[in-house]
Amino acid sequence: MESLTPMMKQYLQLKEQHKDCILFFRLGDFYEMFFEDAILAAKELEIALTGRDCGLKERAPMCGVPYHAAENYIAKLIDKGYKVAIGEQVEDPSLAKGIVRREVTKIITPGTVIEPSMLRERENNYIMAVYYQSDGIGIAYADISTGDLRTTEFIGMDFYIHFQNEIAKITPREMIINEDGYAVVTQGEKSTVLENCYITKYDSWAFKTDYAANLLKNHFRILNLEGIGMDSHSFSISATGALITYLEQTQKKSIHHLQKIQYYYTQDYMILDKATRRNLELTETIRDGSRKGSLLWIMDKTSTSMGARLLKQWVEEPLKDVYNIQQRLDAVEELKTNLIVREDLKEYMKNIYDLERLVGRISYGNANPRDLIWLKSSLCFIPNIKKYLESFSSKLLEKVNETMDTHEEVIELIRGAIVDEPPVSIKEGGIIKDSFNTEIRSLREAITNGKTWIANIEREERQKTGIKSLKIGYNKVFGYYIEVTKTNLNLVPSDYIRKQTLANAERYITADLKEIESKILGAEERINDLEYQIFIEIREKISMYTQVIQKTAKSIATLDVLLSFADISDKQNYAKPTIHKESLIHIKKGRHPVVEKMIPTNMFVPNDTLLDCSENRFTILTGPNMAGKSTYMRQVALIVLMAQIGCFVPVEEATIGITDRIFTRVGASDDLAQGQSTFMVEMSELANIINSATANSLIILDEIGRGTSTYDGLSIAWAVVEYISSQENLGARTLFATHYHELTELEETLEGVKNYCIAVKESGDDIVFLRKIVRGAADQSYGIQVAKLAGVSEKIVDRAKKILMGLEFNDVNNKLLKEEKDISEVAMTQETQLDIFHYREDILLDELLKIDLMNTTPLEAMNHLYRLLNMAKDSR
Ligand code: ADP
Repeated sequence: MESLTPMMKQYLQLKEQHKDCILFFRLGDFYEMFFEDAILAAKELEIALTGRDCGLKERAPMCGVPYHAAENYIAKLIDKGYKVAIGEQVEDPSLAKGIVRREVTKIITPGTVIEPSMLRERENNYIMAVYYQSDGIGIAYADISTGDLRTTEFIGMDFYIHFQNEIAKITPREMIINEDGYAVVTQGEKSTVLENCYITKYDSWAFKTDYAANLLKNHFRILNLEGIGMDSHSFSISATGALITYLEQTQKKSIHHLQKIQYYYTQDYMILDKATRRNLELTETIRDGSRKGSLLWIMDKTSTSMGARLLKQWVEEPLKDVYNIQQRLDAVEELKTNLIVREDLKEYMKNIYDLERLVGRISYGNANPRDLIWLKSSLCFIPNIKKYLESFSSKLLEKVNETMDTHEEVIELIRGAIVDEPPVSIKEGGIIKDSFNTEIRSLREAITNGKTWIANIEREERQKTGIKSLKIGYNKVFGYYIEVTKTNLNLVPSDYIRKQTLANAERYITADLKEIESKILGAEERINDLEYQIFIEIREKISMYTQVIQKTAKSIATLDVLLSFADISDKQNYAKPTIHKESLIHIKKGRHPVVEKMIPTNMFVPNDTLLDCSENRFTILTGPNMAGKSTYMRQVALIVLMAQIGCFVPVEEATIGITDRIFTRVGASDDLAQGQSTFMVEMSELANIINSATANSLIILDEIGRGTSTYDGLSIAWAVVEYISSQENLGARTLFATHYHELTELEETLEGVKNYCIAVKESGDDIVFLRKIVRGAADQSYGIQVAKLAGVSEKIVDRAKKILMGLEFNDVNNKLLKEEKDISEVAMTQETQLDIFHYREDILLDELLKIDLMNTTPLEAMNHLYRLLNMAKDSR
């Protein structure tokens, strides 16, 4: 250590304080990385790994990136989940005594980036703090690029499940968590696997309630936490305290633009678990995770990034309160019927930049002059928008209008100070208008006049010396110089001082030239400094308006989302649903919003739905594969969801009874990557539904029990129908698609259960899908016909038909099931036990007969015997 060079010592000191980061160490025009950081970064960034003498025997591994191109490299590392600490020179190298002082000025982490190039425009980038205790969890999350900050907590029964649901909704990019929580979230059966989320353990002191409460009071400048609705939420306080501490630590400054915090209750929103979000393809498709093909893709016709982000939030948080939903629907209706105004408003919207992120950068001290011009030009459109809004009478649009400020002072400030087309750089001048500051004006005059002065000297020197080709030039090393070609050297006067010799010319300076040069260059330097200072002042002044501009931005975003809803409702022929607190869901001619867009126009067959909590609470849906069962069930869920989001729905007419949760168990989702079998996943999802659903939930179950043997599966499915449909247990509105035709018999015995099937037409040996839902049970499964339709070879299809006939004739258990009404009762009778016993005996005999004794070694014979004995024991 002693032998290290002073610079390396400095490097290692900084690195010691930021062990979990890759340290970008500023050396001249480069950021250099050393030792393990260098090896890692060289690999991840695909840049050359070199070495540098560091005072030790071996050279230190090193790699580096030019500082002006650093942003791209940092973005790459962040994208891969690393943290980057920027070690900057914090004193002027020319003034430094000894080694230049360096400090970490900023830590960039996946959840705290604000540079536009590292963010997705139409999505939030959340950092979340989690405070876990054995009896509850608090979460707080922020998007520091927009200033959004929210918090909530979960206590009591099922608190962890609520937490998991919330995580699935928010999908934070980064999470900090207390030590106890870290173990739970990352290990064991409760581990919450978060794709693409960077999780770190964080210091426990930052979560301490007293510390956190004081921090919040200081940060929000309040005397008590009542004002922000957090006084009785200690889990939330701890999480928020840690979040703000972490942000200040990484940003190395106070984060003033997080000026408002929203404490929210998850009960105010429809709850959707991770599987349901995935199955209903709310924001991305199951197949390839793309946006195209998702509900969001259909609903998002927003013009601004702010609108797109809010719309995503609305889609992920459908409402439960009739009044609030109604407000959105009324606003959509007004905009829908007013086509001309809507089109005009959309045009204005297109001119509005991302105000949230602009003010974020302004109050962060990161905005450049062009950002201010964008802010001004965006704000200039607001009076026009407000004028249109005045003609509307729905409450929500009135509120949007009220909260939208015209920000004249901000506009005037920018208009008065900043030139119309400024550069991006803040250090090279050309930003401030002449008219804004008298010193700037006179310095600019000096610079302009300077050019004339130089031109005059050039003319005078030519006349004086008689050298026609004499010219005055400029370079960074010598400043202004007089250049004379070699052929004219004899004419050079004696007061010329030679500075540089070129191949066929000499360069000189004179006292006069240097005097003028110092005036011009002094003015240039001064003006750049002055413009920089004025710009910073203006930016700071504008940052005082952060909160009001954020409010305006939210209003613009809300209007954008409502316009988007109105637009699709109009273009896709959606209708306004009637929303009520009762349980009735009555849909006439409903369509699946995504499937109808994926198939040729007008080819989608609409279907009706009737569900309530009494006579029609449980629909058993049968029909061959490919008939349209899944599509139908998802369509019902999506219509309910869209209605509660506040959008019109793809129906002719609909009454939607508020639903507190939607659960789906659709298809065999493949979680094998997580080491669970398909059946295990299916059953744990089912358990979650049974445990968490209420009578006001909507449950969609597709082919429950498919992952196990026929009899196990049928028994489970049977018991599930009994349990869910019973009002004593649950009585929730349910759609249940099954290939166990035996279940359709339950309509006779269970209250509220109704059979429906999707009609097909037989045409000779083939079938035609009619896609129409009708009352009653399907009489056949038509699996073989579907296989034929799908292109399975005729040979196989024919053979399958023969096997089927044989099976139908032979299947003892099939007969058993057909003969008896209620399997659960039957299972208890002696007769059944006998039948099952005979069935097992058959299997045992089959196995015995398979043994080829003449070709079996004694050891194999022992093995066979052992296996058969076990089978016999099992069947007892
Ligand atoms: P199942 O679940 O019964 O196997 P799906 O719901 O997967 O069937 O539907 C199969 C295909 O049928 C869908 O991909 C879709 O293209 C088409 N389809 C389903 N319902 C309709 C409908 N109502 N109108 C037109 N096409 C439909």
